Amino acid sequence: MSGKVETYEFQAESRQLLQLVVHSIYSNKDIFLRELISNASDALDKLRLESLRDGELKADTSDLHIALEPDEEARTLTVRDNGIGMSREEVVALIGTIAKSGTAEFARKLKEANENRDGAASADLIGSFGVGFYSSFMVADRVTLVTRRAGEEAGTRWESAGEGTYDLQTVDDAPQGTSVTLHLKEVDTEDHLYDYTKPDALRAIVRQHSDFIPWPVRLPVEKTGEDGEVESTVETVNSMKALWSRSPEEITAEEYGEFYRHVSHDWSDPLETIHTRAEGTFEYQALLFIPSRAPLDLFHQDARRGVNLYVKRVFIMDDCKTLLPDYLRFVKGVVDAQDLSLNVSREALQQDRQIQLMHRRLVKKVLSTVKALRGKDPEKYRTFWQEFGRAVKEGLLSDFDNRETLLEACSFPSTEDPKEETGLRAYKERMKEGQEHIYYLTGPSRARLESSPHIEAFREKGYEVLLLTDPVDEVWVEQVTEYDGTPLQSIAKGQVDLESSEDDEESEEETARRTEEFGPLLAWLGDSLGEDIKEVRLSSRLTTSPACIVGDAGDVTPTLEKMYRAMGQ
Ligand code: ADP
Ligand code: MG
Repeated sequence: MSGKVETYEFQAESRQLLQLVVHSIYSNKDIFLRELISNASDALDKLRLESLRDGELKADTSDLHIALEPDEEARTLTVRDNGIGMSREEVVALIGTIAKSGTAEFARKLKEANENRDGAASADLIGSFGVGFYSSFMVADRVTLVTRRAGEEAGTRWESAGEGTYDLQTVDDAPQGTSVTLHLKEVDTEDHLYDYTKPDALRAIVRQHSDFIPWPVRLPVEKTGEDGEVESTVETVNSMKALWSRSPEEITAEEYGEFYRHVSHDWSDPLETIHTRAEGTFEYQALLFIPSRAPLDLFHQDARRGVNLYVKRVFIMDDCKTLLPDYLRFVKGVVDAQDLSLNVSREALQQDRQIQLMHRRLVKKVLSTVKALRGKDPEKYRTFWQEFGRAVKEGLLSDFDNRETLLEACSFPSTEDPKEETGLRAYKERMKEGQEHIYYLTGPSRARLESSPHIEAFREKGYEVLLLTDPVDEVWVEQVTEYDGTPLQSIAKGQVDLESSEDDEESEEETARRTEEFGPLLAWLGDSLGEDIKEVRLSSRLTTSPACIVGDAGDVTPTLEKMYRAMGQ
C-alpha cells in the first residue's frame, strides 16, 4: 500500500546547483560514495544518541550498519543505513532545499564560471562548497531515496532525475532508516571511472575515503572455496578505527584529509591538523583542523560550528559551541572526553568544570599552533591570516586570558611594506631609537590612510605606522592598550609628541615666536569653526599639509562613529 505520487519543484537555488552538478566535469566522481556513507554514518550517530536520550523511542538499534548493495544487471548501487531516517517534511526540507548559508553567493559564482566556460573554476567551486547528497547526480541519471524516520509508521519515497523536479510518495513498507539507490550512468571509459557495481571498486573506494567510519560498511561478496563451491558472504570493508584514538605517527596526511572531509562537510584538504591528547585526572583526545578556506557563512549569525563532542567514542553532539570560543568558530574536528556522562546536555556542558578546563587547553593549543605556523611555514600562516584573521581579531575583545598570545598571532598592514603585513614582534624589532610607542592609524582603506595628513611627520621621521582598515580594528584598539610592554598609540588622537625624540628639536624661543605669529590665525579659525571643534592648535606632525583634524585621546574615531550610527546608537 502506497500513497499517490506527487511532483514538486526544487527550490530555485537547489535546481541551479543540481544542474551544475549533473553536468559537472568534477574529475573525481568516486567521492559521491564518501558523501553517501558520511550521511549514513551521521544518521546512525543520531539514532544511537536519540535512543539513549529517549527511552520510549520505538527504534531498532540492535545491528546498526551501512550496507552497499550493487546490482550489475540493473546497473544500480544502493547505499542503505538503518539509522534515524527522515520524515516526509524532513525530506522536503533537507533534500529538496539547500539550507546552507551562502548558497546564493555560491550559485552566482558557479553560474559565472560556467558562463565563462571556466571548467577548472567551476570544479574548484563545487569542491569548495561541497554538494553532499547532490553529488550522487554526478554518476547517476536517476536517484531514488526511500526513508522512514525511527519511531514513525509511514515512510517516504523520493525520486529525481536531477532536472528541476522530484517525486514524493508515502510508502507503508519502508524499513527504518534510509536507502539511496543510484541508477548509474553508462561507464565513461575515457574518464577511467570505476564501475560502481563491482565489489572490488567499491571496496577500494571505501578503504580510501571512508575507512575510519565508526559503523560497519558491509558489502556482499562471492568467494570461491577450496572445493570450487561459490559461497556468498558479507564482508565489512572498513577498519572502523576512530582516527583520533590512533597514534599520530602512524596516520598519513591522506587519512587525516579524509577524516577532515567527513567531519567538516568540506571537500578540500585542511590547512593544519592538530592532534592532541590529555592524560591524568581528566582524559580526552582531540583531533582538530584549521580549514584552508573560510566558509561563506563565517560572519553569519547561524553559521554551523565545527567541533563534535564524543564520549568514549560515542557521538554526543555536533555543533558544540562550548568547546571553543566564538572567534575560533572555523575550527573543525572531534573532541572525545573519557569521563563525561553520555546524557550530558548542551546546557549542562556550559557549567561543567571539566569542559571549561578542556576549553582553556584547546584554545591555548590552537593559538600556539597558529603562532608556530608563523615561524615554521609563513606561506601557510599567510593563508590562515587572510582567511580567518578577521574572526581571530574578535578574540582581542573577548579573550582576556589569551590576549598576548592572540596579539602574537595577528598581522597588520603597515607603512613598512606596501604588500606584506607585519606582526607586532617584527614591528618592535624595527622600532627607532627613542621610539616608545607602537603607532597606528585606523580608517576605511590603505590608500586613504596613506594619504592622510596625520602620517606625514611619522613618515618623515622614519617611524612605522600600522594601517588598520578592518572595522573590527576600530573596536579592539579601544581595549588593547599595549603589546609586550609597549603602549599602542593612535596617531590621529591627542598630542602625539614627536619633538623630543629627534634631533630637529625646536627651541623654546622658536615655539614662542611661532605661537605669537600664528596666534591670530588660530583665534580666527577657532571662532569660525565654533561649535564644530574643540580647539585649534599648532602642530609639529604636519610637513606638507597645512592642517589636519585630530580627535581627543578619548574620542571615538570617525569610522567607529559611522558604525555606531549605522547600528542606531
Ligand atoms: P550535509 O551532510 O552537509 O548536511 P548533504 O547534502 O549530504 O549535506 O545532506 C543533507 C541533509 O540530508 C543532511 O544534513 C541530513 O539531515 C539529511 N540526510 C542525508 N542523508 C541522510 C541519511 N542517510 N539519513 C538521514 N538523513 C540524511
Ligand atoms: Mg553530507
